[in-house]
Amino acid sequence: MGFRITFLGTGGGRHTTMYQIRSTGGMLIEHDGGRLHVDPGPGALTQMHRIRYDLTETDSVLVSHCHPDHYSDAESVIEGITRGGWVRRGHVYGSPTVIDGEGGLGPCISPYHLGVAAGHTVFRPGDTLDVDGMRVDVKRAIHSDPTNAGFVFHTEHGTVSYVSDTEYRDEIADQYLGTRVLILPVTTPSGNRIHYHMCTDDAVSFIDRVKPELAIFVHLGVVIIRRGPESEAASVEAATGVRTIAGHDLMVLDVGEELRLSDAEVHEGLWIPDSSP
Ligand SMILES: [Zn+2]
Ligand SMILES: [Zn+2]
Repeated sequence: MGFRITFLGTGGGRHTTMYQIRSTGGMLIEHDGGRLHVDPGPGALTQMHRIRYDLTETDSVLVSHCHPDHYSDAESVIEGITRGGWVRRGHVYGSPTVIDGEGGLGPCISPYHLGVAAGHTVFRPGDTLDVDGMRVDVKRAIHSDPTNAGFVFHTEHGTVSYVSDTEYRDEIADQYLGTRVLILPVTTPSGNRIHYHMCTDDAVSFIDRVKPELAIFVHLGVVIIRRGPESEAASVEAATGVRTIAGHDLMVLDVGEELRLSDAEVHEGLWIPDSSP
C-alpha cells in the first residue's frame, strides 16, 4: 500500500466551512499499518460516501484542535471505526481542548464516543505518537486554539508534514526542516494576512525556509478561493523554486519513490456498504 493521502476537503475557515464552498472533510491517510483520518470537519462523511470509502475500515482518528472545520464529523467517524459503537476498536488522538476541553473550548468528542474506542491519547507539541505502527511527531502551532499542533508523518519514502492552522514564524517553519512534502494551510491570499492564520506571503516564507520537494495548499478560505488558489500557488513556486500546488477536493497523493498525484473516483447513486446492517 505504501502511503496515500486522499484530501477529502481542502477548504478551511469559517465562511468556506459554513457554506461548504469547498469540503472541509480533512485527510484520509492509508499507510502500511492502517487507515488514519485527520481532521474530519464538515463534509467528511459526504465525501467518503461519494468515493465509496467504507469508514468502518478506518483504524484511528486524529483531531488537531477544537475548531469545527477540523472536528465536526469526528464522532461519526468514531462510530464508523467501532462499527456503529458495537466493536471496541480504534484510537482517538486529540489536543487537550479536543479530548478534555480547556479555556472555554471543547471537549469536542463526547465521553460516550471516547468510551467506545479502544483508547485515546491527548497529544502535546514534542510528543511522538505511534499511530498503528506509523511514527508521527507533534509540532507547535500559534493559533486561537492554543493547544493546536502540526504533524510530521514518517513514511518509508521520507516525511509528509501537515502544518495545521498557525501564524507564520521562522521557528514554526524550522520544525519542518527536512520534510519531503509540506501540506500547508493557506487561509488567505497575498496581501491579506489575518491573525492566527497564514496568507500566500507567509507560504512564500515558509516554503522558502523548509524547501520541500512538494508543497500543497489546503484550508483555503473564501477570499483565496475567489482570487484563485492555483495562481497563488504558482506565484509561490515562482518565488521559491519549489513545486507548489493548490490542493483540490478528492485529490490523491501517493508517496513512493516518486510523488504521484491523481483524483479519487467519484460515484453517484445509491450505495449501501456491505458492512451496513
Ligand atoms: Zn481551521
Ligand atoms: Zn483553527
